Amino acid sequence: MEAAIVSVFGLLVGSFLNVCIYRIPKNISVVYLPKSHCPKCKNEIKWYDNIPVVSFLILGGRCRNCKTKISPRYLTVELLTSALFLLAYLKFGFSPELFSAAILFSFLIVIALIDFKTQYIYDVTVVPLAILGLLFSYFVRGQSPLLSLVGFLTGGAIFLTIAYAGRLLYKFEVMGMGDVKLAAAIGAFLGWQSTIAMVIVTFTLGCIVGLLLLITKKKGGKDPVPFGPFLVLGTFVMILAGEKLTGLLNPGWNN
Ligand SMILES: [Zn+2]
Repeated sequence: MEAAIVSVFGLLVGSFLNVCIYRIPKNISVVYLPKSHCPKCKNEIKWYDNIPVVSFLILGGRCRNCKTKISPRYLTVELLTSALFLLAYLKFGFSPELFSAAILFSFLIVIALIDFKTQYIYDVTVVPLAILGLLFSYFVRGQSPLLSLVGFLTGGAIFLTIAYAGRLLYKFEVMGMGDVKLAAAIGAFLGWQSTIAMVIVTFTLGCIVGLLLLITKKKGGKDPVPFGPFLVLGTFVMILAGEKLTGLLNPGWNN
């Protein structure tokens, strides 16, 4: 029963995250209405056409008015948010950790999808995330404001080093400042030990996908690949399954 509530709540949050993903790059407020409109015909989307998953399926993924196809991203984000909330619930139960993980995951979904689309990580997403990480460290198991602050600096320092080294060695941007800020904000949530483990997981994922893209010739050696989504994936793995990967490096969260 609890699991069902958490899943449905995840769908509703996912629906709001879709609004954020659409509006933040366009610089439209996410809290202040205007109501949602179809991007094509500008018709206002009624509440009954805005029910997560259900409406998408009933309308066959099309606008009721002009029949324009609605991006499957909307459905994907809702289901992904729900699944991640459920996994966090199964791991942490109803607890401060579940609350923190849900907030962190919500921000990360928005950041990853915007980065994927626009190759840009917005300060309005990473700055609040860093502050929340520091605040939540008071009540997350095994964390403390000090660990959180050191985590913030660790994440930031590692990625700043990579960014500068890349600029010196390759003379082009291998890592943007957005990635540095994101790594720092995640570090504030994870604490420094888990941040180091997260970086290892992230680069492993990045290397595997990078090689696949090169082999399948989807990307050339110098094409930019947004790194934010990998940081986000690495963090999901650390929060949900960190203890299976590392013993020593991973206190807090998984104890
Ligand atoms: Zn329409």
